[in-house]
Amino acid sequence: MVSAVVQQRIKALRSEIEAHNYQYYVLDAPTVPDAGYDTLFRELQRLEAQHPEFLTSDSPTQRVGAAPLKYFAEVPHRTPMLSLNNAFSADEVIAFDARVRDALGIDEVEYAVELKFDGLAINLSYRNGIFVQGATRGDGSTGEDVTENLRTVRSIPLRLKEANGEVLCADVEVRGEVLMFTRDFDLLNEQQRLNGEKEFVNPRNAAAGSLRQLDSAVTATRHLSFYAYGVGLCDGVNLSGKHDLQMAQLADWGVPVATQRSTVQGVAGLLDYYKEMGALRAALPFAIDGVVYKVNDIAQQQMLGFVSRAPRFAIAHKFPAEEAMTTLLDIDVQV
Ligand code: NAD
Repeated sequence: MVSAVVQQRIKALRSEIEAHNYQYYVLDAPTVPDAGYDTLFRELQRLEAQHPEFLTSDSPTQRVGAAPLKYFAEVPHRTPMLSLNNAFSADEVIAFDARVRDALGIDEVEYAVELKFDGLAINLSYRNGIFVQGATRGDGSTGEDVTENLRTVRSIPLRLKEANGEVLCADVEVRGEVLMFTRDFDLLNEQQRLNGEKEFVNPRNAAAGSLRQLDSAVTATRHLSFYAYGVGLCDGVNLSGKHDLQMAQLADWGVPVATQRSTVQGVAGLLDYYKEMGALRAALPFAIDGVVYKVNDIAQQQMLGFVSRAPRFAIAHKFPAEEAMTTLLDIDVQV
């Protein structure tokens, strides 16, 4: 492509993606299916990689989500909340594993493998075992203070429990996903229909809309769930140097961690897990849009580090899209 044409295309992609980001992250009302959005995003990433002279720091590829809404107090994250790079094929997973092995100089990598929950990312802060603040991811460095709303989520412990009943003298950040189970989503939409109100497009959108209510009494009527998938900052307690054992520790403290997780060796283990969870997907009580692979050893994670909006030590392997554009159009026609 001629340089000027590429530059034009980059500009058009950026403004289209920014518009979708606003609909999705700020208004919780996407107007295109995720697969369509992903195609645009990848085209922009590819063009910027081929033409670094056109890469600018305000490109949507250089940020995580949208800036926070103005209504909630802003919370600066003490450790950034990032996104994940995506793989859409086995070949991309093989390439990811090769990059990790090359960078670490080892023949086989141990991975923690988990579900990719289709909800919204949340940081929970616990001080001396007590839940003190909860925030959305926002743009990755600043989120929204949704503490009061998170208190209404029954499965989020307000106090971390220690085996011996002692107080946990530590400053711990739990990272995870707020989501809505399919059953609760169907009930909510039935209620919305009865009330003559707009239905939610999908469980993710319903979870986001429910959590970002200014009145926590409304959030309390919505049945939200939570699963942890990581630890942010952790001061005052010696956590294991392995991701899978950290998750086991969170579970011991009473934090919900999904049981469909495992620890595998090498790329064959990753692809087996993908197949297994793909077969399980329809039977799960909540939506997942893929699985996530993480280098299990935290020291190795630190060696690999980050690139712009995502870690190099983890990747999301997405399932084929379930949500079709027609679903969105059907909803649009009804309102
Ligand atoms: P993402 O949803 O693809 O992946 C990153 C997120 O995955 C994390 O922030 C976390 O919230 C979540 N996650 C779930 N399980 C996890 C686990 N086990 N470990 C770690 N993280 C886990 O990325 P994103 O930046 O949140 O959003 C980008 C995606 O959103 C796009 O790929 C697109 O599908 C969708 N999107 C759609 C539109 C639209 O208009 N349809 C607009 C913007 C974004």
